[in-house]
Amino acid sequence: MMVFMLLKLYNTKTKCLSEVKNLSETKIYACGPTVYNYAHIGNLRTYIFEDLLIKSLKLFKYNVNYAMNITDIGHLTGDFDDGEDKVVKAAKERGLTVYDISRFFTKAFFDDCKKLNILYPDKVLVASEYILDMIEVVKVLEKNGFTYFVNGNVYFDISRFKNYGQMAGINLNDINENSVSRVELDFSKRNKSDFVLWFTNSKFQNQEMKWDSPWGFGYPSWHLECATMNLNYFNSTLNIHLGGIDHIRVHHVNEIAIMECYLGKNWCDMFIHGEFLIMENEKMSKSNNDFITIKNLEDEGFSPLDFRYFCLTAHYRTQLKFTFHSLKACKVARENLLSKLTSCYSSLSQFDISLLSQDDENIEFILEHKYYDSFLERIAFDLNIPKVLALLWDIVRDNNLSSLSKLKLAFKFDEVLSLGLREEILREIDMSRIVIDDVMNSLIEERRLAKLKKDFKRADEIREYCRSKGFILIDTEEGTKVKRG
Ligand code: AMP
Ligand code: ZN
Repeated sequence: MMVFMLLKLYNTKTKCLSEVKNLSETKIYACGPTVYNYAHIGNLRTYIFEDLLIKSLKLFKYNVNYAMNITDIGHLTGDFDDGEDKVVKAAKERGLTVYDISRFFTKAFFDDCKKLNILYPDKVLVASEYILDMIEVVKVLEKNGFTYFVNGNVYFDISRFKNYGQMAGINLNDINENSVSRVELDFSKRNKSDFVLWFTNSKFQNQEMKWDSPWGFGYPSWHLECATMNLNYFNSTLNIHLGGIDHIRVHHVNEIAIMECYLGKNWCDMFIHGEFLIMENEKMSKSNNDFITIKNLEDEGFSPLDFRYFCLTAHYRTQLKFTFHSLKACKVARENLLSKLTSCYSSLSQFDISLLSQDDENIEFILEHKYYDSFLERIAFDLNIPKVLALLWDIVRDNNLSSLSKLKLAFKFDEVLSLGLREEILREIDMSRIVIDDVMNSLIEERRLAKLKKDFKRADEIREYCRSKGFILIDTEEGTKVKRG
């Protein structure tokens, strides 16, 4: 079935729902991670939301071109040009080079994404590879009178851009009074919210990554990076800019200022922001080292897909409070879903299985149609994934649907939800055929005892050993199960 619906999303720029109109090429940019530490589950909630959006657009036949950056330079510990470079700080603390740090954590980030079934972007842009382009952007802004040089740094003069801060509801008249009182101010700035484009003189002179420029040996700011990489990859227009809500007030407002002053025209019409994952009413912060990673969840016996399921339960514009109790409930729900769908699969004839493996869009029956249309509507109206999940459960429980129809719909929904249903079901079926010998049984028991004693090193060794022999250990409510790997 051909889909001709347009997706509607909440646009932070216009404060209302807008249709995504650019079907023939939808240019999308997401602010990527700053690679000085592991991504925490808050960061990953945002990347899961972005993944759901990209996959929904693809389902609706948008021709998506999706780029994400890697910030390996210039993101300071404070958003207002204060503090130390995050990557440099991490390198110093660990006694490594900035290049080692960024390479290591970039890989760790994409490894986590893979475990969460997050698609790799069409293009990954690494900030430190675009320095010359960044210098060119600053030169143009300087030539057109948007910058000034003071105290060793090139600043963007926000009073030269009349729309400054519009997306965040910032009023230029108020800005000097209120907005940045909490930071240590550079009193040589013309306006309090003027931001650095190029640093040659920061409080921290230990910056390892520096380049020659017309303004001296230095490095770019984080805002200049995202703007320049966008320009380099997408030229003068972008259709959708993505990120977490924390980026609205400073980073995205500054990116817009750079781009619109550089281009002399409107730049990106849609900014879509994902709400935060919070811990018992607090924000998660990567720079205060108290955060949860995917590895931490795995050590507690969760699958990364339990966390994906957990994220599917909240709309992208609603805060989501993380507790292990709620994650546990999602783990149980996901396993239940799999077990019900596995039973459906086991009841199929060979002919049904062959129908199911055809990757077509053929939704034939009236009931199937009703569910499929409702699925599309729920996605089309501001990406309502929690309602899609609820619909999936309605399907699983509907006694009037055949097993084949249930699976067909579930696999179709899973093109967006990405719970790996097909693979997990096949593995489940394969697993039921595995014969576990005495050696495997004693290893599983040894690992259980090691985990009880919190000896995660030994528990991990056993899991790795089994994996090397082609068996994957999976911790479930009923104990450890074994699958072929
Ligand atoms: P960073 O690595 O700090 O640049 O952040 C990467 C992405 O995670 C950005 O899109 C942020 O907006 C987003 N982010 C940061 N903290 C959270 C959180 N607690 N919940 C959801 N998204 C977050
Ligand atoms: Zn950015």
